[in-house]
Amino acid sequence: MDVKIEKGTVVTVDGEGRVLKDHSLAVEDGRIVEISRRVAGEAEHVIDARGKIVMPGLVNTHTHLAMTLMRGVADDLPLMKWLQEEIWPLEANLEPRHIYAGSLLGCLEMLMGGTTTFNDMYFQLDEVARAVEESGIRGVLSHAMFDLVAETSVEEAMREGRAKVRKYNSRPGRVRVFFGPHAPYTCSEELLVAAKEEAERLGTGLHIHVSETRQEVEDSRREKGLAPIEYLEKIGFLGPEVVAAHCVWPKEREFEVLRERGVKVSHNPISNMKIAAGIAPVPEYLNKGIQVSLATDGAASNNTLDMFETMKMTALLHKVTSGDASAVPAGTVLEMATAGGARALGMEEIGSLEVGKRADIVLVNTKVPNLTPFTNPVSHLVYAARSSDVDTVMVDGRILMEGRRVRSLDPGAVLELAARETEHLLEKGGKLERLT
Ligand SMILES: [Zn+2]
Repeated sequence: MDVKIEKGTVVTVDGEGRVLKDHSLAVEDGRIVEISRRVAGEAEHVIDARGKIVMPGLVNTHTHLAMTLMRGVADDLPLMKWLQEEIWPLEANLEPRHIYAGSLLGCLEMLMGGTTTFNDMYFQLDEVARAVEESGIRGVLSHAMFDLVAETSVEEAMREGRAKVRKYNSRPGRVRVFFGPHAPYTCSEELLVAAKEEAERLGTGLHIHVSETRQEVEDSRREKGLAPIEYLEKIGFLGPEVVAAHCVWPKEREFEVLRERGVKVSHNPISNMKIAAGIAPVPEYLNKGIQVSLATDGAASNNTLDMFETMKMTALLHKVTSGDASAVPAGTVLEMATAGGARALGMEEIGSLEVGKRADIVLVNTKVPNLTPFTNPVSHLVYAARSSDVDTVMVDGRILMEGRRVRSLDPGAVLELAARETEHLLEKGGKLERLT
């Protein structure tokens, strides 16, 4: 075998939520081939997991990686003001070099924090793919499309998207491409329908922002006579291949629609709080059997890509709003952040630690004050662990970080590049002076 991970506390997140104390894993050809008390045989590399939690890699189902360069550029603003006055003008100056640098920084931040798969939405997708390939992480890259706020025709947007899907999805690897029509208010009906039809024809997914703010819902009702989810249902857009980010403001009938269509809701609690978008009704979604995964959104509205933080916020936020301390318990949150995310992206081969699954594995060091005494692994992961407690990360059987030493990238060089490219971007946008 290639790698043996010995004597850890294995949090499987399998269907039964089993936690196996003092267990070992064997990895061969990128897959988990054995989980048992004692794995026999020689391995090329042995990882001592004593004092560590062994868990599936976290799955972040809604990001805009390149926006790590805009971390802290514009805070404390409501969504439309933030987008129209700060973010879109900056994005108008983006060059491929910025997108590559921001994406590489995002990959580094995620992998050092135990996230092994993410679902991005951005333009210049080849630059994001380059960062994913170099970092060793796994990424679904959604080709961003919007024809109502840009000088793009439906044909142009679709032609480019189709080319990316064909280029990346026809070859093996860690990059998959979805269509990413930005939102019902930035895309025409024609574009949304074209994206849906092409996704079906090419067997890929769709990624969209939906029902993020109350304003969006009011505008949609006024302009289209329907709330956003109702509207997407009417034009035939919704289905199990749709990852719908936010879904903060569903109307009663829209719950039914999401459930019936098997839509995968991506919950972004920190971004929603920061932009004061509102609180998605996650306990109701879960009670009604709607699938919910977790995400950070871009670092410009979070301001990190930290899934440990997101797990804790999810568990706490819904207890406060429901007045019920048992709402969205730790085990449910962990499931949403791992297996639930994998399901949302149609990647059943990851998301849990089971024999036959791809080896996307994270080791968390428990020999730290905030995880002592080591009494309850699942509770500790959600309520007490920090992303800096992540010790070792493996994706597809390849070790990307061990003992907090990143192997696939040179972290110092990535930080330097990101700082340099941010300076260049802000200078171009005339914002550098204001910030420094
Ligand atoms: Zn977003």
